[in-house]
This record gives sequence, C-alpha cells and structure tokens, in this order.
Amino acid sequence: MLEALRRIVQEVNEAPNLEQALDVIVRRVKQVVRADVCSVYLTDFDARQHVLQATDGLRPQALGRVRLPLNRGLVGWVSERAETVNLDDGSSHPRYMRIAETGEQRFRAFLGVPIIQNRKVLGVLVLRRYEAVRFDEDEVNLVVTLASQLAGAITYARTSGELARLQVGGLPTHFLSGLPASPGIGIGVAVVVYPPADLDAVPDRTVVAAEIDAECDAFRSALEDVAEDIDRFAQRTAAILRPEDRALFDAWQLMLESDTLVDGTLGRIRAGNWAPGALRTTIDEHARIFDAMEDEYLRERGSDVRDLGRRILMRIQNIQAHPVEYLPGTILVGEELSAMQIADVPRELLTGVVSTTGSSSSHIAILARGMGVPAAMGVADLPVARVQGREMIVDGYRGRVHVAPGPVVKAEYQRQIADDLALGTELEALRGLPSETTDGYSLPLFLNTGLVSESRPVGIEEAAGVGLYRTELPFIVRDRFPGEEVQVDNYRTVLKTFAPRPVTIRTLDVGGDKALPYFPVVESNPFLGWRGIRITLDHPEIFLTQVRAMLRAAIGLDNLQLLLPMITTVGEVDDSLMLIQRAHAELLDEGFPVSMPPVGVMIEVPAAVYQTKALARRVQFLSVGTNDLTQYLLAVDRNNPHVARLYNELHPAVLQALVEIMEGARAYGREVSICGEMAGDPLVVPLLLGMGVHSLSMGAGSLLRVKWVIRSFSRARARELLNAALMCEQASSVQRLLLDALGEVGLSGLVRPMH
Ligand code: PEP
Ligand code: MG
Repeated sequence: MLEALRRIVQEVNEAPNLEQALDVIVRRVKQVVRADVCSVYLTDFDARQHVLQATDGLRPQALGRVRLPLNRGLVGWVSERAETVNLDDGSSHPRYMRIAETGEQRFRAFLGVPIIQNRKVLGVLVLRRYEAVRFDEDEVNLVVTLASQLAGAITYARTSGELARLQVGGLPTHFLSGLPASPGIGIGVAVVVYPPADLDAVPDRTVVAAEIDAECDAFRSALEDVAEDIDRFAQRTAAILRPEDRALFDAWQLMLESDTLVDGTLGRIRAGNWAPGALRTTIDEHARIFDAMEDEYLRERGSDVRDLGRRILMRIQNIQAHPVEYLPGTILVGEELSAMQIADVPRELLTGVVSTTGSSSSHIAILARGMGVPAAMGVADLPVARVQGREMIVDGYRGRVHVAPGPVVKAEYQRQIADDLALGTELEALRGLPSETTDGYSLPLFLNTGLVSESRPVGIEEAAGVGLYRTELPFIVRDRFPGEEVQVDNYRTVLKTFAPRPVTIRTLDVGGDKALPYFPVVESNPFLGWRGIRITLDHPEIFLTQVRAMLRAAIGLDNLQLLLPMITTVGEVDDSLMLIQRAHAELLDEGFPVSMPPVGVMIEVPAAVYQTKALARRVQFLSVGTNDLTQYLLAVDRNNPHVARLYNELHPAVLQALVEIMEGARAYGREVSICGEMAGDPLVVPLLLGMGVHSLSMGAGSLLRVKWVIRSFSRARARELLNAALMCEQASSVQRLLLDALGEVGLSGLVRPMH
C-alpha cells in the first residue's frame, strides 16, 4: 500500500497541471482500492457549490456540469463535517441526493474523504462500489493520506488561477496570484517581452589555436558593448530612480569586470572552446552557485547573472535587441524579466510590471519600487504567450493580475487609484513638518538603509538620522570579505551624508537567511544557528576589521552609533565591548584620532527581552528588531507559507515583550528604538507611541505615513489604546481596535488590506 501511495503521489506531483493531476488521482486510486468509481468534487467558493471535476467511472459528460449546492447530498455532508464518511449503502442515507446525469444510482458502497488545507475543505474525494460493503480500514487510510497530499496541489492550482481556467476554458476569468513586489495599481495593456538570446541553446564548439585570439577579442569587445549599454540605461533612469536603486547598475558593472566572469571565460576559450560556449559554461556555473543559496535575495542574483550572460551573448552574436514599440499604459510582462528590459521602457509609458518568476527581493522588484511602478512577481500561471495586447490590471498591493477585467472589477480598481492619488497628495503636504503628537511630544523618525552603501538614500531630509544601517549587503555584493579600507569608504559615505545626525551602523548580521556567497554556512536550522554576533565573535578578525573601519570612518564626524545584532547572552556583549575597546586603543596607538561611539544592542532574541536590564546596564541604547523577535517568540518562520498566517506582530505576546523591554530600559534610563518592519506600519504606531519608545526606524517609503499617524494622536490617547490593546487576548482584537482608532482620526486610507 505504502509503495502504491508513494507512486501515486509522485505521478501527481509530476502532472503538468491540475486537470491531469486529478485525472491521475481518480484513475490510480480506483485501481489500487479496487473501487468501481473514483471522483473528485472541488469547492467553488464563489458560487458556493461542489463541482464534479474528475471521475473514473461516472459519465464523463457530467464533468464540470454537476454542481451541487454546498450543503446538499452526501458530498455536502462530508464537506460540512470535514470528516470521512464510509457507508455500505450510500443511497439509503438520508442525505443521499440522486443525480441522474452521473449514472451514480447503480452504486451502493460510498466512501467520501474531505480534501482539507489550512482548515478549509477544498473538495471531496468520493469512491463508490456496486456491492453494499464498506471500504476496509486500510483502504480508507490510503485515501485519507492521498487526500492530504492532494490538498497542497489543489491550493497551489487554485491560488494560481488554474482552477478558474479549468472550469471556464480559455483565459483565466479570476485574478491570478503572485507576490506583491511594488505597491500601487496599474491599469493598462500587456506588452510581452522575451529574453534577448538563448544562452542555454548555445552548443560547445572546438576552436583551433589560430582562432583563439579572435574568440577572446570577440568576447572582450562584447563586454565593452554591454558596459556601454548599462551606462546608457543608468543615465536614462538617473532622473527617476533613487540613487540607491540606480546602484544596481553599478553591481552589473562590477559583475562584468569580475574575475569569475572575465578570466573564467577567457580560460575556457584558451582551453579550446569558442566564445559563446565558454561564456555559457561560465555563466551557468556562476548562476548555479546563487541558485543553490537559501537566501531569497541571493538566489535572485542568479537571474541577474543569466541576464548579463544573455546580453553578452547577444553582442558576441552581433544581434541587436528587437525594438519593441511601447505605448502609454504599458504593462511589461515576461517570464524572466530583467531590470534592463524595464529600463528600456520610457517611464511615462510604464504602468505596471508583471513577471511569472521572481519575488519582492528581485532586482526588478527593487527597480519597480524605486520607479514607483506597481509590480507583481512570481505570477507563475500567467499564460504569457496569450496576453499580448490584452487589457490588464496589476494590483501591486496584493500581487494580483487581472487579464481582460470585467467592468465591475475595473471600476473598483479605478476608485482605488483615485484614492491613492488623493493620499499621495496629502502625504506630500507633510514633508518638512515635525514628527510630533497633537500635544507636542516629538517622536523622531529614522531611516533603515544599507541596500547599497555608496549612495545617498532617499528620505534623507525627512529622517532624523539612520536608525539601522545593515552592513550585510555591502558584504554580499562582493566576492570576498571587504577589507578595512573599502569598509572605511563605505561607512564614511553614509556617516558624512547624514552628519551631524546620528547613524547607527550594525555589525555584520549574516547567517539565518542572509548568506555570504564566499562564506557558506550549511545548517539544518539556520535561524537557530550560527548567525549575527555568534559568527563575528567566533571570527574576531572579521569583527575587529569592521569595528576599526567604523571608528576610522567617524573621525571628525562623531555621529556613529554602533549596534550589535542577535545578542542572546550578556557574555556576548562583554566580549564585543572588549573587542571594540581593543580596536579603539589600537587605532589610537596607530595615531588615528578615533573616539568611542555609543554602543547598543538589538533585542530580537526572546532571551534578551528577559535580560533587558542586564543588557541596558552594559550599553548606551537598545534597538528592538521586531522581525526576528516576532519570528522567535511565535516560533514562526515568516518565509514559510504554511505558517505565514501565524506571523503577527500584533500577537499579545509580542506587545507584552515590548512593554517588558521598555520597563527594563527605563531602569537604566536607556533609550529604545524600534527598527523592525513594525516601526513603519501606520497601524501599530499608536501603540509604540503609547509605550514611550524613543524613536522609530523604517524604510523611506513609510516615513510620511508614520508621521501622519503621530501627528494625529495625543500621547494620552496612545496610552489609552495601548492599555486597551494589552487587555486583548488575540491579535485580531488588537487589529480591530487599531483600525477603529485610525478610522476615528480619518486615517483608514493609510492601511490597505493586503489579502
Ligand atoms: C529585525 O530582526 O527586526 C531587524 C531589524 O533585523 P533584520 O531584519 O536585519 O534581521
Ligand atoms: Mg534581525
């Protein structure tokens, strides 16, 4: 039985679409269980019906036609109870409903098993036999096990729109789901673009010694051409992109000059392969390293490498990119869109971006956000080849795409666009105003930054300084640990940009889901493993180099604050302080006029919450990393879709932890900043204000929204809300409370439902 089950599951997983997967199920289950009929009914939640979707044994013409109201018949009964029903004679059951068009009346035994995912009944698997004999325990167990496996496949297909297509035929009538990548709504016309050249199709070809130089030259000159292309794109987007996002182009230029690419390819040409073949192998090898990485951001770099490879190939082959005509309202659609393809569309014509692959950390998502263009990524089931020229809506808030939308859907989205426009104008009016409550209490807003170091982040005028400068990314974009001088340059740029305002630079926090390509850490439980301060204390040379660079960068500016991530024990703080003092003393000895910066710790491990006092005693300030704190407190990996709905910063335990941290810090008069995503969420801000946090640090996009909330509440009202929230036993009650509170001051529009 187990072997049969294993084989069926494998076949189901290999099926190219839901229709065929269901077909495999009904055929194979009927065979293994020796039933006379096996059918699958799926729940159509909109129509509130069960639809006969696959069968082996009933009349095929009934497929898609038999639609039972949710509460009718034996199928409805199984679904209602969400339990297996095993009867020796289904037709004698009071809930039995005769459906003539299936030919089902000839059968007696009935086994109905619900298909459940996330507590929702997605459908019912039904087995019938001529004889009036119940199915035995083994058979029932097999079908129950299979139904649980099937649930995953159906959920996937349903959310990706396959189900809608299956029921109606042709283009999907429902929206297709992907991942939200850049907020906003775009209504326009799909323009489908394809990758410029197929690197995978390039064969190997042996070249003789006399040809090697020419091949090397062709490769080198292709590199130069591509470098020029990138420059051109960079110039074109200079006026519309934030500097930190434009730095993507710098990253490409770096890749173009990297030893791996240049020497790797030239080496292969010299070994006797022609330039395209040598390039393909090099790119493949390089991209695969990224593909294998756990971290989503780094995995995405694999597609950047491939994109660059295609561009170089195109130049080697002397192919000019096919000119595409872009009209106003262009929604750029592709399977593996590249940032260069986006940069190719004049900004005023670009209304939306949709890619069937990628996620919110893809470069094109970063670019789209930088350009303020709504985008949805990973819309896996979009039939790209069939949407060219079709009207399309991109909902970048929810990651949805509507193809050829009906008038009602379109009107609703037009209304949302109008609301967004009105909100944008109101937000702009807040620029330059103080971040102050109605009773004059000032809560400074800081910036989280660190995407690319060598730039001037947007929002700089609005922010009171940098509350969190993540140093991981400058480490990630290189192919080895950056040395002291490189780091000095890096940190000096950001310190200088904001001086005299304070800049909090955090020591390296790699590990978990942030891996360095040149420092692989393979663990079965990375978030509970070697991460953040644990790595850098085990490698004092990395820590010391970084701290030395920070201290040197701050000479004469004196606006550096140094932050330690992932602190779990006071011993880690003591060890870090010792190393910081050592770096300080060494630099003074070497003649650098450095000063000791204020040092703070991140509270993001639950253990640290309960030791806030002991930690506060040792350092000058505390910064709460609510992203990790929530993840660890609730034992929920926020990157895991099965449990993502459990990840909630409004969980009473998270709020209680924050209150505890504030009390601990107060005992030593230390200031507390919040630097996780929570600080930028307008909904939660009144609670943080009520708790008495001293500052909030967030992405540039949240600054004005958060400021608006602060300017709409008094401290007394915020405290009142906090007290009410602390009485709640569930996150949903806290959420309702806060939504009402924002509504009262007319700020409901700041919070968009994300689902
Ligand atoms: C956090 O955990 O909340 C935080 C700010 O750090 P990071 O997101 O970089 O882990
Ligand atoms: Mg963290």
